[in-house]
Amino acid sequence: MSEALRPRPPINADNRFYFDALDAGTVCAQCCDACGEFRHPPVPMCPRCHSLEWSPREMPGEGELVSFVVMHHPVRPPFEDGYIVALVEFPEGPRMVMNLEGIAEDDVKIGMTLRVAAEAVDDELTLPVARPIT
Ligand SMILES: [Zn+2]
Repeated sequence: MSEALRPRPPINADNRFYFDALDAGTVCAQCCDACGEFRHPPVPMCPRCHSLEWSPREMPGEGELVSFVVMHHPVRPPFEDGYIVALVEFPEGPRMVMNLEGIAEDDVKIGMTLRVAAEAVDDELTLPVARPIT
């Protein structure tokens, strides 16, 4: 029997840079070339100034936990009971949803600083993953 894989993200012209950056080992967000506003998830137009010009910018390796949920039931492979889904805010402003690993559910605290890195979850998919700073 084959192993269950993570759902594949829909990759398109707007978000390809994000997944290419993850494959290269970095976590990037869009930054508006006209006004400097960061945004995520990727969209074609700046929500602040409506410019269509943007550049990818690498996010720092740390962010703040803004919110989280813990998956308990129903459990569906490849996810396991206790899988933590975190909303992480980078100092530049963009927020990203990612897995929080390496910490017990009861120890998770809103506002904690997390280390964020691009990690391969299987042979074909790399995603951002947050871990507590130890
Ligand atoms: Zn802008």
